[in-house]
Amino acid sequence: MTDGPSPRPDDLSPATRLVALGREPAAPGAQVGAPLVLTSTYHADGEVAYGRGGNPTWSALEEAVGSLEGGDALVLASGMAAVSAAFALLPHGGTVVVPSAAYNGVMATVADLEASGGATVRRVDVADTAAVTAALDGADLLWLESPTNPLLEVADLPAVCAAARARGVLSVVDNTFATPLLQRPLEVGADVVVHSATKYLAGHSDVLLGVVVTAPTAAGRALRARLQRHRLLHGGVAGPMEAWLALRGLRTLHLRLERACANAAELARRLAGHGAVTRVRYPGLGAVVSIEVVGGAPGAERVAAATRLWVHATSLGGVESLLERRRRQPNEPAEVPEELLRLSVGVEDVEDLWADLAAALERAAG
Ligand SMILES: *Cc1c(COP(=O)(O)O)cnc(C)c1O
Repeated sequence: MTDGPSPRPDDLSPATRLVALGREPAAPGAQVGAPLVLTSTYHADGEVAYGRGGNPTWSALEEAVGSLEGGDALVLASGMAAVSAAFALLPHGGTVVVPSAAYNGVMATVADLEASGGATVRRVDVADTAAVTAALDGADLLWLESPTNPLLEVADLPAVCAAARARGVLSVVDNTFATPLLQRPLEVGADVVVHSATKYLAGHSDVLLGVVVTAPTAAGRALRARLQRHRLLHGGVAGPMEAWLALRGLRTLHLRLERACANAAELARRLAGHGAVTRVRYPGLGAVVSIEVVGGAPGAERVAAATRLWVHATSLGGVESLLERRRRQPNEPAEVPEELLRLSVGVEDVEDLWADLAAALERAAG
């Protein structure tokens, strides 16, 4: 870095931004990496007084994720902390439109809201744009996930977000599966983006973290103020170490995702021809593939127990490939077939992944 102004983030491609952003200004002797600031309080009369209000390590991660999504990011303690902050935008007793099957923590959250009288819940097939639109009249919030976890259904985000905005309904998109490299919901009319940064953004199965992002508009800034107040008062704040690890992981998101997506596409193609697989769900983007296998729930459990390289564990988005029969989770919606295995495809060699998975499918089908 010598003469001339530094490039503006808007001029840089996403791959460059996730490497370059969230660093201290260049100065002789200044550190190159982001600061890891461990403090609960600050000397008085600064911008931030106390650790629940802000942290320089959060800010570094927020700068990078916000720029990738095209908005302003706030980091929270987990994906569910981000989900809860976004649900707090729903007025008490309001009406929320949700996918009939999506991340089970979200499904359980809306079921609890419904049971307590906190909200009226309308469940829709998110892939059915007409059904989503029809459910929006008189609603307050539209909750979207696309592709959905674990059925991998895809919503027409521009159409449903526009329909929501036209009716004054706030739209929230959980962008965990696509990441901002594959899809930027704010650009197509969403009001709030939510991430479980635990997954692809951090990418190494070593932290829990969440992010909410709002648009850089007057309406977006008003939402951001409410979300920030929620974070301050509910206290679901991120540890600086977790934020630092997530930023470190984010630096290679483009590389990890490129390999994982290529592996997923190839495995989806091969799985479709495997005799022990009855259905492959793969939306043509991302690195999660869901399959249904012969032998019902016991058959799926046998596959999960029989792999040697693939790790039998919940979660997704890490460098290592994981698989799990989703209905073992108590909150999993009944729409998810008992014999469905969710595969989170990692960045290993695809031939090794295929050999291990094919062998496990054969052993299980026995
Ligand atoms: C994992 C996940 C969450 C919850 O995130 P945590 O970091 O586990 O709290 C929310 N949405 C989706 C789509 C997820 O996969």
